[in-house]
Amino acid sequence: MQKISVLVMKITLAIFLCLFTSSLWAAQYVTRSDTKVLASKDLHAKVLGQLGKSSVIEATEADKGWYKTHYNGTDGYIQAKYLQETGVLPAEEESNDGNTIYIFGGGALALIAIIAGAVYRYAPKKKKRKKNLIITPQMIVHWYQCRHCSVYIQKSSEASLTGCEKAHAHHWIKLGEVGEHKYICKKCSTIINLVSEPAADGCKGGEQHQWRKV
Ligand SMILES: [Zn+2]
Ligand SMILES: [Zn+2]
Repeated sequence: MQKISVLVMKITLAIFLCLFTSSLWAAQYVTRSDTKVLASKDLHAKVLGQLGKSSVIEATEADKGWYKTHYNGTDGYIQAKYLQETGVLPAEEESNDGNTIYIFGGGALALIAIIAGAVYRYAPKKKKRKKNLIITPQMIVHWYQCRHCSVYIQKSSEASLTGCEKAHAHHWIKLGEVGEHKYICKKCSTIINLVSEPAADGCKGGEQHQWRKV
């Protein structure tokens, strides 16, 4: 909630700033009497022209008793005491006033920047990716037995072929997955523990094992 209220406050401030700056120097004035328009803020400056009483001018700047206005395509200055404010120009009538547009544009940019900043800041951030729990597959260990030498080993991968005493290489028979049930072969007395009954192949003499659960 606090974040939202800060956001609203910022936007309000930006809009206010925008409106305020845009209207600051867009005031219309009416001349109280015949008035000279001078080239600078100086009573002795070059006279650009004369305005009759009740002429409407648009002041774009006010400084030390002088108002700046556009006069015949140039900047002119009129003494403030000759002018009477008529009110603030509606925004759509300011299109000829470069300064006003510039200031308004600046305000609008500030507004956009502030909103963009706020949205960026308060936008829900991407959720951090949860670290996936890496489940390493449990090593499945099998019993292997060589049909030549009857050696049997537990291996999680294929057993090495070298080192057979009865042949040039072991010839492994996969008997089954290592588990909690113990089996014994009546013929060769091999005792192994497996999840289920071992394969029959690979007993000595090329025969079939005769497994018995112990
Ligand atoms: Zn062998
Ligand atoms: Zn056997």
